[in-house]
Amino acid sequence: MAEFDVIVIGAGPGGYVCAIRCAQLGLKTAVVEGRETLGGTCLNVGCIPSKALLHASHSLHEAEHNFEKMGLIGTAPKVDWAKMLAYKDEVIGQNTKGIEFLFKKNKITWLKGWGSIPAVGQVKVGDEVHSAKHIVIATGSEAASLPGVEVDEKVIVTSTGALTLPKVPKDMVVIGAGVIGLELGSVYARLGAKVTVVEYLDAITPGMDGEVQKTFQRLLKRQGLDFVMGAAVQKAEVKKGKATVTWKLRKDDSEHTLEADCVLVATGRKPYTAGLGLDALGVEMEPRGQVRVDSHWRTSVPGLYAIGDAIIGPMLAHKAEDEGMAVAEVMAGKHGHVNYDVIPGVIYTAPEVASVGKTEEQLKAEGRAYKVGKFAFMGNGRAKAVFQGDGFVKILADKDTDRVLGAHLIGPAAGELIHEICVAMEFGASAQDIALTCHAHPTFSEAVREAALACGDGPIHS
Ligand code: FAD
Repeated sequence: MAEFDVIVIGAGPGGYVCAIRCAQLGLKTAVVEGRETLGGTCLNVGCIPSKALLHASHSLHEAEHNFEKMGLIGTAPKVDWAKMLAYKDEVIGQNTKGIEFLFKKNKITWLKGWGSIPAVGQVKVGDEVHSAKHIVIATGSEAASLPGVEVDEKVIVTSTGALTLPKVPKDMVVIGAGVIGLELGSVYARLGAKVTVVEYLDAITPGMDGEVQKTFQRLLKRQGLDFVMGAAVQKAEVKKGKATVTWKLRKDDSEHTLEADCVLVATGRKPYTAGLGLDALGVEMEPRGQVRVDSHWRTSVPGLYAIGDAIIGPMLAHKAEDEGMAVAEVMAGKHGHVNYDVIPGVIYTAPEVASVGKTEEQLKAEGRAYKVGKFAFMGNGRAKAVFQGDGFVKILADKDTDRVLGAHLIGPAAGELIHEICVAMEFGASAQDIALTCHAHPTFSEAVREAALACGDGPIHS
């Protein structure tokens, strides 16, 4: 039996970051991971591979639609799907090996296999039982299922299958207009598939700023994606290699079907804690299956913590990472903190969508007096130069104090620009603080400054 200060179960962004910080703080640390490679959902079948395919397919889109406009003449590139998948796998490999290197560098032991917690302070991996003062559950999440829809990961796939399809489908139905469905839907639409998104609600990307939702859907439609809104999927079946999806429209109960080569089920994810033995340990759970924790990520069992997708909160890699670092500090007797009010959310389509803090809808529901500063990328010279004038920056600030309460962006590099606002919010900045900060020209960031100016005396370029 090996003894550790900390054993982390799961090597996703929550678990591996937690382990590295524990090691940096002088704790003897091990990580249990059942996959062949480190990095969890994010590096193996999530954030990283999807961004590789988004990049490749966006490059194709640029070549097909914008190269000629810039005087770059020639035949448009053809898609070699096998090669594109190999590029994606290469990117995954570089990243997962990078984590392995960091584990070695920080002297973190990788206990290979699936772990369970037979008793307080013990972790079983295979036949071996290891002991630890602290155990962290960082076991992540898995794709949620949908009644009547049986996933075979060939024709009816989750996001995992959608990252390794044998070929680019001719037609694809995406069930669910959330982040994952829209990102992967746009990949295949750019590669030539006819993509139809079927969504239960009346708006895409639930919880996002309403104005962003509308603009985003309009731009995706312009890129060729079709949307069926307010539709409850009843079933999806495969016959002779082709799928039929059936849904009922909520407004009139009418039934509709559509055939497709591929159906992507992207109706969300659920926490994964199977096989850990949490029931026997008496660990308290949330009604929706997450491990219940207090503000220091402590479960109801002493010495047992949980972070990332396995607990409540947005299912995002950076949220998991922040919790991983913070819980390491807590276990080392220091102060760990995550500011859940300032966690950005990004959709890596083209244009990108990014948000942080309150939406207008939330502020209205809270009855809070606020002002809106908005600036369209059409007024940004850099954006226009690179054919990315669609979208806007919208900053919400307190009506009296001018303190920034939230921001919602759709447009070029939105996923990078959002961090200026995150930093401003962390520092309790006002919109005027951003407006008074000199921004280099010509940058997309100037649109953020202009939106901040719009919270005050007005932007210059609109
Ligand atoms: P995970 O990354 O799920 O890692 C958990 C690990 O624990 C897994 O490797 C699993 O094998 C292991 N494990 C589970 N049980 C055991 C056990 N008993 N013993 C040993 N090992 C175990 N988030 C973003 O922020 N940005 C994005 O762009 C983004 N894109 C995404 C795209 C897709 C297609 C998907 C599916 C997700 C995406 N996400 C994105 C979400 C992100 O991947 C997750 O929020 C993040 O990975 C959660 O990290 P985690 O450490 O909690 O768990």
